[in-house]
Amino acid sequence: MADSAETPQNDTIFGRILRGEIPCDQVHADEQCIAFRDVAPQAPVHILVIPREHVVNLVEASEKQAELLGHLLLVAAQVARQEGLDAFRTVINSGAEAGQTVFHLHVHVMGGRPLAWPPG
Ligand code: AMP
Repeated sequence: MADSAETPQNDTIFGRILRGEIPCDQVHADEQCIAFRDVAPQAPVHILVIPREHVVNLVEASEKQAELLGHLLLVAAQVARQEGLDAFRTVINSGAEAGQTVFHLHVHVMGGRPLAWPPG
């Protein structure tokens, strides 16, 4: 379930960002992923970490992506530190009923205000 997001086969909005077709406010880039600010932030800091590889969501991920998934979480913590956050929340919505609207795996990193639990 993985293809390169840098080829047109991945036509999600995040594929278009990865291909440079639409701009983003990027805060991190490496060989495996990029991170950029969410266009509709739900907290003072709201960043999305996305793999360059097109993985639809965690439901579709497999053992092949084990190292990549670990990397995404480490980058999430790194960008949170970069933003000066002592506390932050990471969220991965998997499936429409869970609130996933973009079908390219992404880790939300949110912080900068108290965050209630449980989420809605
Ligand atoms: P989800 O609902 O978990 O699939 O999250 C998708 C997120 O992508 C939402 O928080 C959107 O605000 C965000 N988003 C959609 N389009 C863009 C974009 N062009 N640049 C940055 N964030 C975006």
